[in-house]
Amino acid sequence: MQSLFLWDCGQRQGKCDTMSSMVKTEELYYQDAYLKEFEAEVLSCSEGRDGSFLVVLDRTAFFPEQGGQSSDIGTISGACVSHVSIKDGVISHVTDKELTVGDKVTGAIDWNHRFSNMQQHTGEHIFSGIVNSRYGYDNVGFHLSDSEVTMDYNGVLTDDDIRDVEMAVNKAIWENIEVKCEFPAKEILDTLQYRSKKELTGDVRIVTIPGYDSCACCAPHVARTGEIGFLKVVSCQNYKGGVRVSILCGKRALEYISAQTGVVAELTGLLTTGSDKIVSSVKKLSEENYALKGELSDCREKLIGYELDSIDENKENVFLKKESGLDSNLMRKTVNALTEVHKGFCGVFSGDDSIGYKYIIATRDGNRDLRALQNMLHDEYGAKGGGSSAMAQGSMGPVDVASVIIKCESF
Ligand SMILES: [Zn+2]
Repeated sequence: MQSLFLWDCGQRQGKCDTMSSMVKTEELYYQDAYLKEFEAEVLSCSEGRDGSFLVVLDRTAFFPEQGGQSSDIGTISGACVSHVSIKDGVISHVTDKELTVGDKVTGAIDWNHRFSNMQQHTGEHIFSGIVNSRYGYDNVGFHLSDSEVTMDYNGVLTDDDIRDVEMAVNKAIWENIEVKCEFPAKEILDTLQYRSKKELTGDVRIVTIPGYDSCACCAPHVARTGEIGFLKVVSCQNYKGGVRVSILCGKRALEYISAQTGVVAELTGLLTTGSDKIVSSVKKLSEENYALKGELSDCREKLIGYELDSIDENKENVFLKKESGLDSNLMRKTVNALTEVHKGFCGVFSGDDSIGYKYIIATRDGNRDLRALQNMLHDEYGAKGGGSSAMAQGSMGPVDVASVIIKCESF
């Protein structure tokens, strides 16, 4: 089950003929992905931005950010390493302390962080290898950060496809297969089939998971698939004509499932039902809520009807203050009902003095111009909104609405 390749950094980058000898860093992570501490010599240290320093060593076990994967973090002789980058073969460690050129130092990578990246990354290899061999799709984008792991495939996978691949990946994990990382001689390399985004020259590192994947890749991987623990697909969405799949492996997957289990437990408590009935309970609640909103609206309308009946018919300008949350349709209906009886300006303010109001004002008298009233609300109360000479609507911030209504009724 050989397949094409995903990872575009399978080419050895650490040696660079055009750079001086001081920047040639020995990449210890190629020799041993499990190396947690190492001794090295400081080749250069320059002050970077924000008081940080850029440190180059003669050798390092810190994997730099590349190919979509975030870098290792850790310490170098007490200095914190927050990021590691590689450019033109130069590996730079960002530290919070200055280190002395020529000093022997001890580097220590944050192993929990590194091992988690190894789990996610190796899980991704198996997933992409299976997607490629079963569906012929390539992984055309990969992102591995502390918060997410995503792969972009140039073809569509259905929910059933995703479940099938997820199960197949986990079977490969439980088979506890050895993960082989090697730099084959050119004549052997030429005979191999492996996933690759681009033509590679020079030393090419091939990572093979027998039966599942073969891929040029420079990153650290677990030694056997069983160390991945398990893989969980978190989401799959359409993306650029294909799909973007989010996965989690090992401890990250366990933490995700623990959080989901916590949400389910809270919901079963709130709904006093079993976890298998959560969805039907929420649907029922939603339908009840919709029906109650309708009943509430009907009751409000009736109540407003009684209120309108009690207003002196001879009053020209009539303004009402209503509770917040009155829906716009009911506000409009109320204003229309008022203008049928009262020939001046009629309006409704819905809201609360502490949070503000929305309002609708109208008149049926063609000789009156509502825009003057709207301008007054804008100038004196900072109201925002617009309308015509016959109808206006808008909103205003916290205000003593009783005084606004007195002003409007005497306008
Ligand atoms: Zn890899």
